[in-house]
Amino acid sequence: MAMSSHLALYRKYRPQTFEEVVGQEHITKTLANQILSGKISHAYLFTGSRGVGKTSVAKIFARAVNCENNTTGSPCGECEVCKKLKQANDVNVVEIDAASNNRVDDIRELREKVKFAPIGAKYKVYIIDEVHMLSDSAFNALLKTLEEPPEYIIFILATTEVHKLPATIISRCSRFDFRLLSIDSLSKVLEGIFKQEGIEAEMDAIKLIAAAGEGSVRDTLSIADSINAYSGGHITKEAVMKVLGTTDHELLLEFFDKIIDKDLGGVLTLINNIDASGKNLSVFAKDAAKHARDLLVCKTCLRPSEILNLPDDVLKKYVAQAERVDDKRLISYMQTFASSEAELRYTLSTRLLLESLAIACITGEEVKKN
Ligand SMILES: [Zn+2]
Repeated sequence: MAMSSHLALYRKYRPQTFEEVVGQEHITKTLANQILSGKISHAYLFTGSRGVGKTSVAKIFARAVNCENNTTGSPCGECEVCKKLKQANDVNVVEIDAASNNRVDDIRELREKVKFAPIGAKYKVYIIDEVHMLSDSAFNALLKTLEEPPEYIIFILATTEVHKLPATIISRCSRFDFRLLSIDSLSKVLEGIFKQEGIEAEMDAIKLIAAAGEGSVRDTLSIADSINAYSGGHITKEAVMKVLGTTDHELLLEFFDKIIDKDLGGVLTLINNIDASGKNLSVFAKDAAKHARDLLVCKTCLRPSEILNLPDDVLKKYVAQAERVDDKRLISYMQTFASSEAELRYTLSTRLLLESLAIACITGEEVKKN
């Protein structure tokens, strides 16, 4: 799947120590101090947008509390325990995706497992990602464990949507709010990685990529991956603009023609071609949302030219396209795309989300939210 190749840099450059985590010093310093002074908590809550370092910090923390020669707060990376815990599937660091393990039975099973002491380490650390996805009964079960955790257990709950957590859970945790990164911080991350990768990049290009990442290291590096694949080792401002720039009107018209004609195969093929052309799909999804809105303006407003800033020949095509659909369907296109705005920020696969949105427009059914 395209997603994996687009996260190559993100995976490769995951920070291994607290010092390597960028833009979250208010958190990493506190955690390092807690470890050095032996005053750690047994339940942490990490909140913030996706791709800002929550899971990375959780994994570093899991090694740091167990490290045998921890002198700085960070894991040394050299001792037996550090090496052991770095292996995927080590029994002492358990990562649970609450999106797919959200039932009460999953948490009951977890409660059984926490009775077992760590093996070859001091602490067993449970990292529960996207914890807001748990069902109400699962939260209740989790709460019981959080109230009386065994000495050797540490929970780290991570979420992009803290407002969905019950207050009883939040109050049991020591909470850390991860920030979005500044363009400057993201630019520095990019500069460092490009240097190590031997990729040449113009400073203007770096700034543009950093700005497009909208505060997320993960998004920034995913965009850097697609631009690097497109420009092959030498990244110019023009190349970045080409990949990130607004989608041309013809492509949007073609996309919506297929939706209007309920041509599902055609839509999926077109999304595949757009992805393969190196175009960033998040940008395309945002442009598609705007196009749906523009069509509604063409359909319902007396003088759309006063509202839409489009060349005359393009406007004519928009008006003609809007004429082919009734108001109700246009409104549902717009709502479907508008409702995805938050998800676009958080989704792991923009392509899958974009496909679901197109299918929802065609079938008239809502996108299934998990
Ligand atoms: Zn160590």
